[in-house]
Amino acid sequence: MPEFTTDPFPLEYAIPGFIVLLLLELGVAIAEGRERYTPKDTLGSLAMGIGNALIRLVTKGLSIGVFFVIYEYRLFNLGGAWWVWVLCFFAEDLAYYGFHRSSHGVRYFWASHVVHHSSQKYNFSTALRQTWTGSLSGTFLFHAWLPLLGFHPIMVAIFQTFSLVYQFWIHTEYIRKLPAPLEYVLNTPSHHRVHHASDVKYLDRNHGGVLIIWDRLLGTFQPEEEQPTYGLVTNITTHNPLRIATHEWSAMVRDIHSAPGWRARLVYLFGPPGWSHDGSRRTSEQLRRELNARRPASRKESEPSSVDAVAES
Ligand SMILES: [Zn+2]
Ligand SMILES: [Zn+2]
Repeated sequence: MPEFTTDPFPLEYAIPGFIVLLLLELGVAIAEGRERYTPKDTLGSLAMGIGNALIRLVTKGLSIGVFFVIYEYRLFNLGGAWWVWVLCFFAEDLAYYGFHRSSHGVRYFWASHVVHHSSQKYNFSTALRQTWTGSLSGTFLFHAWLPLLGFHPIMVAIFQTFSLVYQFWIHTEYIRKLPAPLEYVLNTPSHHRVHHASDVKYLDRNHGGVLIIWDRLLGTFQPEEEQPTYGLVTNITTHNPLRIATHEWSAMVRDIHSAPGWRARLVYLFGPPGWSHDGSRRTSEQLRRELNARRPASRKESEPSSVDAVAES
């Protein structure tokens, strides 16, 4: 492994490619006369993407710095052989799955991640609708076990960037299904449309980054069946970037203030999104149970395997 100290392939290098693909999709949508893009929604997503890129200039260096400190205490000297790169790819994708599933199951992390789900459109600009508060709230620590095992921090950073770049092209309705073997292994436009849906059967499913195998192995996979309805269970109405970035943090603080005791305060912070002490709102799991209770036995949806939860704000 060459002795890199900074990421040689930063995400910023991919931005021209993102812009070209976005303009292409926008052009096709306009030519077809379909309302796949709306100006306010797209501008909101672009503002979130630009803000995220600016914040990343600082936080990326900080997280790599922390990873270098952890790497000093590594358990194994893995080096930079080809098989270590292959292992690192799988390990990073698993770490991403853990981060992403927690981002839907724990409100403290959801407060940042909700931004990515706050558009009711599904197009290439939605891919750019990114959090401003994620790294600041410590989400980079989901990858901390990689340098601890002995993967070089820059190797980890390269795969993190690859995963983010990969996930851009799956934010489209124009690609329906890939050949079956690819749909089985990879996170695809079809699988990720499910992830962005607010329909109860689709909530908190398909958390994979590049690979979908983790969802298949860990019980969170849901194939695309009916046309998804995109957005949140309770959609936001604002296009103001600052409010998009902070609305769930504000809602969480309000809930903590109104909580009747310490237990409720802790659940508002670390419990699933949608939980409320007075039952006035629902988690994904509760919504799924209610849906199942109304359905005949033959059409039950699978229950979530844990407290993974909801697109509620
Ligand atoms: Zn998500
Ligand atoms: Zn997405």
